[in-house]
Amino acid sequence: MLKQERYQHFVDYFSKNQPDAVTELHYGNPFQLLIAVILSAQCTDKRINQVTPALFERFPDPATLAASTPEEVFTYIRSVSYPNNKAKHLVGMAKMLSEVFHNEVPSDIDQLQKMPGVGRKTANVIASVVYDAPAIAVDTHVFRVANRIGLTTNARTPLAVEKQLVEYLPKDTLAIAHHWLILHGRYICVARSPKCEVCPLTWFCKYYARTHTETALLKAEALKAKKAKDAKKKKSLDKMSKELKKRSVK
Ligand code: SF4
Repeated sequence: MLKQERYQHFVDYFSKNQPDAVTELHYGNPFQLLIAVILSAQCTDKRINQVTPALFERFPDPATLAASTPEEVFTYIRSVSYPNNKAKHLVGMAKMLSEVFHNEVPSDIDQLQKMPGVGRKTANVIASVVYDAPAIAVDTHVFRVANRIGLTTNARTPLAVEKQLVEYLPKDTLAIAHHWLILHGRYICVARSPKCEVCPLTWFCKYYARTHTETALLKAEALKAKKAKDAKKKKSLDKMSKELKKRSVK
């Protein structure tokens, strides 16, 4: 199967079945999303959603958070991974946001990355989710699932994965494809033991083909045969309709 065909099947499937995929992080504005995404590194969205309500209530805007201390922020996020570092990052980010960016979360990837705790992945999430920019953030799920399906080849770094996805995915699907891949990786194509037995992507997944060659080949053959049958049926219907038209003209 050509890479372009695999991308086409991927986009077709998810456009039809998950047209409204969104982040599972809870937030009410760009500032809150930025906090939630910084906190979500190496941590689950579920855990982040447990700590953010109290955090957002205590620090409703960049100025309040900037005026706080990492020690105080720590008390709100102690149950997430790397709370010490993340507390420092949040206060540093809020200071920069209020002092340099006039309390507006920037839309530019490079500007975003100037803030403490904001790497390329976080910047891409903000740019795509908040500003609908054609960007795709590569986290551990995106990295793994894109590789397994065969959307990427020999991409050994998140940046290499991002570049290949940007090259092949239609521009208007980049932002949502991030959520498709994350959700698929979180619930079906899980890290240790992918649930291929319930996955709807088996017929074009490279990993599945490699591990279930015979089944995949049969399915591909069946699909090919179905397409040929459909095409034949359509041709015959077209022919019949032309005949009928001719007769009615006479
Ligand atoms: S078939 Fe298996 S490896 Fe491929 S995407 Fe589905 S769960 Fe992942």
